[in-house]
Amino acid sequence: MQYDYDLIVIGAGSGGVRSARIAASYGKKVAIFESSEVGGTCVIRGCVPKKLLVYASNFVKTFKSAKAFGWDVNQPQFHWDRLISNKNAEIERLNKIYLNLLKNSGVELIPHHASFVNKNTVVANGISYSAERILIATGSTPFFPEITGIEHAISSNEALSLQQLPKEITIMGAGYIAVEFACIFNALDSKVNLVYRGDKILRGFDEDIRHFAEEMFIKSGINIITNSNIIEIQKHDNQFDLLLDSDICLKNQDVVLCAAGRVANTQNLGLENVSIKLKYNGQIEVDSEQNCGVDSIFAVGDVCNIHNLTPVAIKEGHLLMDRLYGGGNTYPEYDYLPTTVFSQPEIATCGYTEGQAQEHFGELEIYKSRFRAMKYAMTDIEDQTFMKLIVQKETDLVLGCHIAGTDAGEIIQGFAVAIKQGITKKKLNQCIGIHPTSAEELVTMR
Ligand code: NDP
Repeated sequence: MQYDYDLIVIGAGSGGVRSARIAASYGKKVAIFESSEVGGTCVIRGCVPKKLLVYASNFVKTFKSAKAFGWDVNQPQFHWDRLISNKNAEIERLNKIYLNLLKNSGVELIPHHASFVNKNTVVANGISYSAERILIATGSTPFFPEITGIEHAISSNEALSLQQLPKEITIMGAGYIAVEFACIFNALDSKVNLVYRGDKILRGFDEDIRHFAEEMFIKSGINIITNSNIIEIQKHDNQFDLLLDSDICLKNQDVVLCAAGRVANTQNLGLENVSIKLKYNGQIEVDSEQNCGVDSIFAVGDVCNIHNLTPVAIKEGHLLMDRLYGGGNTYPEYDYLPTTVFSQPEIATCGYTEGQAQEHFGELEIYKSRFRAMKYAMTDIEDQTFMKLIVQKETDLVLGCHIAGTDAGEIIQGFAVAIKQGITKKKLNQCIGIHPTSAEELVTMR
């Protein structure tokens, strides 16, 4: 059978671009379809622009603490429009790099939405394209619950490019996106209300971390409203009144940000034409070969809604191409995945929470430490760090590491390598700390 391409990739985000480039590097003829900007959620409207805003918001503490270190800083002025315009320029630069990466690797970019006609053919802009294999890497999109007036809410996509810094913002949800944006806007001096349906933010994280983070966020000025759902958003002039089912009314909000999770981009893909099974909320079900149940069709990344993290999508795509075209036999490993919420304080985690470890590993030893980071000791900034290690008593294996504090993401990456390789607490104790750092605490915990 003659096909136009060896591989068609649908979606030019992190997983799709990496897959396309690796396949091309094995000499395969590859086309990638993208109806929006190349780079996907991470580069264009997620991790990267968000981190730039996080950097901007982190300056506030530096200015506040400067005096104690001998610096007189005149009243700093913040210009949201300059930040957004510089952020946009940086994203444009990265988008060009991604375009060049595709071009230089010989991948053909087709800037249209593609949908399946059959298991080897897609149609885009009225033209049919065939391939021996097709990879779905279409990612995910913000989810908006059905609430009266929800059309007035924005998602993280728009929050990254607001024309003005809101004086007051309400954020719905208490997961990664909600918490990260709450901290960004709060540090930049917006009044932030975080409305959460549960009783403690950051469900799924270790209980001590959730408790500590909530305490720190409240101390920093975020108004966390738990056990509450927004039931109506009313627009008047250019502001919004929010009615909660806990009888609270939040009046005159400049922005309502919905951060209630994301859904897989599986609509309008013509999946009905290839009988691909979707799981309960629209995500694609794949097996360990990233296969969708149809021999020529594969999927990687957020569209599978397993671990919605850029490095996971990249790893899944890269290893799949190695296996399909490079004789590889390596598969992604999802245990001890490190991840970081870029809040203030940052929350970094690797491995099991105490609750999960209790279920699976019998008796545990728990090590905890809470301290004030040296950087702020001379200042009146209340910056605390919390660290926790979870160890299996029987084997001495470190099962989980959880940090909330400055640079937690940078710290956890190295420890995650050791934990993934099965480090024991005894071996951690044998390591010499670096003094004075916060990270040394993890090798000196008793
Ligand atoms: P999350 O799943 O992390 O959080 C969703 C939040 O919305 C939860 O608090 C959830 O409550 C709440 N929620 C869900 N449905 C409703 C509803 N109908 N009404 C009210 N509240 C609701 O999703 P995010 O959107 O924050 O992020 C999506 C994913 O993207 C993350 O899981 C993560 O994998 C990835 N991500 C990673 C980042 C990073 O690595 N730094 C940054 C941003 C995103 P409940 O807890 O009760 O379910």
